[in-house]
Amino acid sequence: MHKVKAKSILSSSGNMNIYRGCTHGCIYCDSRSRCYNINHDFEDVEIKENALELLEDTLKRKRNKSMIFTGSMSDPYIPIEKDLKLTRGALELVYKYGFGITLLTKSDLILRDLDLIKKINEKTKCVVQMTLTASTDSLSKLIEPNVAPASKRINALKIFSENNIPTIVWLGPILPFILDNEENICALLDMMIKVKVKGILYFGIGMTLREGNREYYYKQLDKLFPNMKEKYIKYYKNNYFVNSFNNDKLVKLIDETCILNNIMHNTDEIFSYLKKFEEKEYVQLSLF
Ligand code: SF4
Repeated sequence: MHKVKAKSILSSSGNMNIYRGCTHGCIYCDSRSRCYNINHDFEDVEIKENALELLEDTLKRKRNKSMIFTGSMSDPYIPIEKDLKLTRGALELVYKYGFGITLLTKSDLILRDLDLIKKINEKTKCVVQMTLTASTDSLSKLIEPNVAPASKRINALKIFSENNIPTIVWLGPILPFILDNEENICALLDMMIKVKVKGILYFGIGMTLREGNREYYYKQLDKLFPNMKEKYIKYYKNNYFVNSFNNDKLVKLIDETCILNNIMHNTDEIFSYLKKFEEKEYVQLSLF
């Protein structure tokens, strides 16, 4: 890891990434793509050491409260967060200044911050988002080697639901020829229904590959799934969108299951829900 002094911490759309790079080792990681111009080894995580000063300064000066988003480019709960507690510090500031936040992670280290997440959600809004792609721990350990396996993520989602924290699952990427089968999708859906997720976000069945993440993914396929890379090259060539041949069947299955179980699944609806800042009624009343 290495530290830098950042110039800013929040993008104009409210995105915050305290870390740059990630040690979770997901074989499909899009953040490795060359277009993001990460000029250091992806695993050599860059830490914005002044992240909390910058965040406090920005939140203090903002006229309107809004939602903050974290986890799009790097997981906010990578192992070094255990010691550095920068994500926790950011949550404390979000609470102090009355903003809302949504965190996207694959790590159950997020449970450490349940107390603060609850406090924020009582005052404004805090949504926990988790990615799920493989239903079994053995497969998720292969594909996402350094992070909580599927069962631990499901358990974390259950605990958040029990504490009235809304949860959204990013269902994907669903790796063609590896995870794009009914058995895997049905098992994931069953688990998500049991733990009462509020929404399931998915963009069809498949994945994306581009310069940077493609090379890494193929290298891992060679190690983990012999002859699979050749299949990808044969069917997908250099395509950015790598869609499953089972796409239609599985999309129908997910849509129908979500409707039946009253789970939000329309992408636009989920994104507007995540963006909508809410203050709880008693907080508004206490202002008068
Ligand atoms: S957790 Fe996200 S950023 Fe980290 S390796 Fe996995 S996909 Fe990439």
